[in-house]
Amino acid sequence: MYPRVYLKKGKEEFLHRKHPWIFSGALKNTSEKIHNQVVYVCIEEGKIAATAYYQNNNIAAKILDFSPVFIDQTFWNKKILNALLYRQALNLINGKDNAYRLLFAEADGLPGLIIDNYNGHFVMQAHNEFVHQQKHFIHQAIKNVFQENYISFYDKSEFANNDETNPVLIDTIIKENNFSFYVNWKEGQKTGFFLDQKNNRYALMQYAKNKVVLNTFAYSGGFSIYAAAGGAKEIHSLDSSEKAIQWCNTNMQLNRFTNSHQSYVADAFEFLRNIPEHYYDIIVLDPPAFAKSMHQKHNAIQAYKRLNALALKKIKHGGYLFTFSCSGVLDKYLFYNTIAAACFECNREIKILQYLHLPPDHPIIPNFAEGEYLKGMVLYVE
Ligand code: SAH
Repeated sequence: MYPRVYLKKGKEEFLHRKHPWIFSGALKNTSEKIHNQVVYVCIEEGKIAATAYYQNNNIAAKILDFSPVFIDQTFWNKKILNALLYRQALNLINGKDNAYRLLFAEADGLPGLIIDNYNGHFVMQAHNEFVHQQKHFIHQAIKNVFQENYISFYDKSEFANNDETNPVLIDTIIKENNFSFYVNWKEGQKTGFFLDQKNNRYALMQYAKNKVVLNTFAYSGGFSIYAAAGGAKEIHSLDSSEKAIQWCNTNMQLNRFTNSHQSYVADAFEFLRNIPEHYYDIIVLDPPAFAKSMHQKHNAIQAYKRLNALALKKIKHGGYLFTFSCSGVLDKYLFYNTIAAACFECNREIKILQYLHLPPDHPIIPNFAEGEYLKGMVLYVE
């Protein structure tokens, strides 16, 4: 069985609140020999309260189950099946969509693990070594659960050592709301596609009719496709990555939306500084995370403010700004206040039309607020 670690007296609240992380300060002295392995978390009397994996970090234990369990193939089969059942119940796999996040870390009871399903191609990202060591169980669990709906598996973890001599599939075309998207998980960012923006892209479609749209940080053109489908008059996509812009153009072609589209490989800040005033009716700002850790928070806030002020200054009167942050360390209220500060700075009046967030395949659980990393707003700019 597994080694035991003990919570300090009075620290049982971690378990009552069902927060999946236990900080090192909440644990009694633990043998330094324990690292990257499964432990039982015990309360004073020695009763096992949870099964976790332990690392010699500030966040010392991440909970895999709030009971004593054994981490074997059956454990992984059950976790993958539960994740699938939730998504099936929500009808996320249907005639018009065939890609979704199958497993969203803590919210699906598996800290440190993400799995996206691109129409039978499963892409895994393990964010720590312990989860990565479980790769073969995870792969097998996916095969067990999906059976004939399984095609391939790709490990996109930072620890991955994908054997180049062993040919694997690296790309496919998926359907999202009946639009086609080329996805390349080997060369693409994250797992290859930003499934998290699905509903927010759909929201843009409702505003786009006859509008001139600028999609900054476009990646493979997600927002551009929906703008075109919504009847936009003109769409400009920009990204600093040449590859992203190639894929964006490919996706516009796949969906036959090339007529009114132009794309640019450019830095978004620079581009926004140089565009004419009052040309664009709609600007989409979906930058990468400006803060990945707490000590970058202040600089990130300044960067969000600068970026949004640049767009707000230039957008047409009566235009719409779609603005996002995917920095987990910035909570939604801080983000909203940062955008408000940008509005004051450039003296533009706004109305908040919609708050945007993660779609249901990226569930949010109340005991893990940290999981709510993506937030956005639709602003009407007077
Ligand atoms: N909106 C996209 C996802 C955006 S991800 C979608 O719906 O799929 C963020 C993108 O910002 C990446 O493609 C990255 O290449 C790009 N990027 C990062 N820094 C940039 C910069 N300074 N200027 C323009 N693009 C940038």
